[in-house]
Parts: sequence; structure tokens; C-alpha cells
Amino acid sequence: MDFVMTNVWSNWSGWVKSWPVALLEPVSEEELAAIVKDGVAPVRVAGSGHSFTPLVESQGTIISLKNMSGVIDHNDEAKTARIKAGTTIRDLGPLLLDRGMGLANQGDIDRQSLAGAVGTGTHGTGGELGSLSAGVESFRLVTASGEVVNANREENINIFNAGRVSMGSLGIMSEITMKLKPAYVLEETGGRMPVDEVLARVDELREAHRHFEFFWFPYSREAIVKFLSETEAEARPRRRRPDDDKAETRDEKIFRVACEASRYLPFLRGRLQNFLTSASGRYSLAADAPGRARWSHDAFPSDRNNRFNEMEYAVPAERGPDCIREVAAYMRTCGINFLFPLEYRYVAADDIWLSPFYERDSVTISVHQYHRQPYRELFEGVENIFRRYQGRPHWGKLHTAKASELKGLYPRWDDFLKVRSDIDPTGKFLNPYLKELFGVD
Ligand SMILES: Cc1cc2nc3c(=O)[nH]c(=O)nc-3n(C[C@H](O)[C@H](O)[C@H](O)COP(=O)(O)OP(=O)(O)OC[C@H]3O[C@@H](n4cnc5c(N)ncnc54)[C@H](O)[C@@H]3O)c2cc1C
Repeated sequence: MDFVMTNVWSNWSGWVKSWPVALLEPVSEEELAAIVKDGVAPVRVAGSGHSFTPLVESQGTIISLKNMSGVIDHNDEAKTARIKAGTTIRDLGPLLLDRGMGLANQGDIDRQSLAGAVGTGTHGTGGELGSLSAGVESFRLVTASGEVVNANREENINIFNAGRVSMGSLGIMSEITMKLKPAYVLEETGGRMPVDEVLARVDELREAHRHFEFFWFPYSREAIVKFLSETEAEARPRRRRPDDDKAETRDEKIFRVACEASRYLPFLRGRLQNFLTSASGRYSLAADAPGRARWSHDAFPSDRNNRFNEMEYAVPAERGPDCIREVAAYMRTCGINFLFPLEYRYVAADDIWLSPFYERDSVTISVHQYHRQPYRELFEGVENIFRRYQGRPHWGKLHTAKASELKGLYPRWDDFLKVRSDIDPTGKFLNPYLKELFGVD
């Protein structure tokens, strides 16, 4: 086991910092179980720290599974693989491709650990496609007593239904079995389209492409659409930047300079947003120019080195266009300075008790604020709109929803809390943030 000498833990955006008594990096399930059994509470497990909310914060024990990474085995016929929970999605892609398989969908970035992404319902976009949590077939969970349980659709079913999205509050997953697809290549196309046209044709666009999303700078009359579709074309390699590469690309530099300009000269924000939109080529539905073809794990992620804070809510899919129109109108008129675009994606319904997509096909709408600018007032105003659309918050992104409100949004809320208190009666895995979120002492 590795002991980390500097006992400071920080999340990606830098807004959450923690000084635990112990920051530990076990190398095996046995070591993990021993740490959990004897660790000073609250015992929290960190993935890659890409959640904006203080889910991992602890003055007791923080555990990282970065040494528990890799594919244990796979089943070619069933198209599944047993994966160590600390494996990052980035490392996972090539390991699965070697076995002729790929994840069915991924989010915007691939820095997250698999268990961290699963723990908050992390998703990409696709009308027919669920979140990463919905792709879980089975998991092994280290519980508060140090015991290890298997959970799947046949064994410990309630733990399976509660545990797939549980933010490390039931225990610590040591391995996860994922349902996969035969390896596939995706072709990316897209560009600028008038917002009114996009919003009028969202159903058609969603059905025509395996993955459809768009970004909208609220001051612009155009959105930037992005499509990924399966193709038989040969995949071209993608050179990924190393994790610790801080060097800016040209586009990142332009965007950062625009953020700084907008910060000091807020009256320029409309013009800057129009400029950033126009930097994308125009997309025409008539255009059939071939896009970039890449293996799926190379096609999904973007590099995001400009830091920001983010809020995201999932609203019923059919209400997505009205909701985003209202959000954009509010942002244009509220007088608060911002530069980042809104992001609009689709996620299919699932059966996971605390999933934002529980029994509901959804559209997710994300609002971002540059990390050097205050976000609270802007996010609060937008959150009031999401509430009117029965929005459910992304657990890893900023929101102010509390237990009393969440109970009304999640039909299986009480069932989840019962499983949680049965499996961890002393609340070993609960930090103050989770206690407040769940409304428990
Ligand atoms: C730049 C950026 C881009 C993003 N893009 C997307 C996106 O496209 N789609 C999307 O949905 N979200 C997105 N997110 C949010 C992100 O995917 C989630 O917050 C995700 O949970 C982060 O994963 P992580 O590995 O960093 O986990 P952490 O943030 O470290 O942890 C998340 C939760 O998982 C728990 N956890 C971690 N490991 C385990 C384990 N072994 N067992 C049990 N619980 C565990 C933690 O305790 C915590 O509660 C983005 C975030 C950032 C910063």
C-alpha cells in the first residue's frame, strides 16, 4: 500500500480541498477491506476528483484506487469485462480495444475513474443510450465492516439497484463488470446551425445520429452541433496529450483569453460569444462531407484544460427545448457576466434508484462558469428554472437541492435510504455533505 505524504486532497476545479488524517492508496481488495474496517470515519473514496461537489471531502480517511487499475478478464460471447474500479476511462479504452470491445457511450472527457463516473451517473449523449451506470452488470462492494459483497440482478438486488449510483455512500466498489459493444468506429461531423432550426428539429437530429449534442453561447443565434455516427471507415489514430500536459493548444489559448477579456470587460461578452461561435464552420444538413473517423474511445473525449465550475440538470426529454430557451433568455437578461456555452445532451431512461434518468428519457442541460468568476448567483437563477421543469441534478456537479426536495424527484428515495442505513448503520461512509444531502444525522 502507498501512504501519501502530503495529506491534502483537492478536486479538479480546485474549489474542494480536504486535509484527512489518512490518504491511502491500496493495491488490492484485501488491503482496501482492511483500511475500510479500521479507517477513521468518514471513509471516503476518491476517483479522479472530477466532481465539483464535496462528495469526497473528509477529515478522516480518503482512499484512492489509482493502484487498482486494469481489466481482470472478459467474456467475448456476453460482451462483458470485469474491470478494477480505479481504472480510468482513458486507460480502459485501449485495453478494451485489445479485446475487440468498447464502452457503449462516454462523456466529454475520459479522465474519470470508472467507479467515480459510475458513482454519479456520468453520461454522454444518445437518445437510445444510458449513462455509464446503466452499463453496469455487476459490482463487488467493500462494506463498512470490511466484508465484500457481490451485487447484480440476481444477487443482492437491492444493493445493486441502490448502489450503481450511490456516490460511495454504501461502500467502496473494488471491481465492476460492464456490458460492452464489439469495438466500433465513430465519425464526427457538425458545425454551426441556427438555434431556432436546431430546436425545431431536435427529435429528427436525435434519431438520425447515434450521438447528437449541441453547445449554445446564449448571446448567439447559432448553436454548434456535434454528431457521432458509427461508420465502416478506417479509424485514424489520435494522439492524446499526456495527463500532466499543461501546455495550451491554440484553441484553448483563444478561449482562455476570451474568458479573461470578458471577465474584465463584461460589456464585450455578447460580441465574444458571437466570435467564438463563428470560429466553428457552418454545418448544413445537406452536407455529406466525411468527418473524422476514430475508434470510439478516441472519438468521445475532448481535452478540457480551461477550468470552470458547472451545474447540470436532467429534465424530461420532451421539455428540453423549452427549458434551454428559458435558461438562455435568463442568462442574457440577468446582468451577470459569463462566457461559457450551454451544453444540451440526451440520456435514455434507466432503473437505478438515484439515477437522474430513473424511468425518464432525459435531456441534460449544463451551465458553466469560468473558474476565476463567481458562479453562485448565476447558477441559482438557472436552478430556479430547472426546478420548474422537475429537473434532477447531476450528483457530481454543483446544485443546492436538499433531501426534502430530492425525495419528491426520486420515487425510490426512501428505499435507497433504507438500503444505505442497513448496510452502513453507523454512517462510516457519510461526510457532512452527504448527511445533509440525504437528510440523515
Ligand atoms: C472537465 C469535466 C468534464 C466532465 N464531463 C462530464 C460529462 O461529459 N458527463 C457527465 O455526466 N459528467 C461529466 N463530468 C462530471 C464527472 O464525470 C463526475 O463528477 C464523475 O463522478 C467524476 O469521476 P471521478 O473519477 O473524478 O470521481 P470523483 O469525483 O473522485 O468521485 C465521484 C463519486 O464517486 C465515488 N467513488 C469513486 N470511486 C468509487 C468506488 N471505487 N466505489 C464507490 N464509489 C466511488 C466518490 O466517493 C464520489 O462520491 C465532468 C467533470 C469535469 C471536471
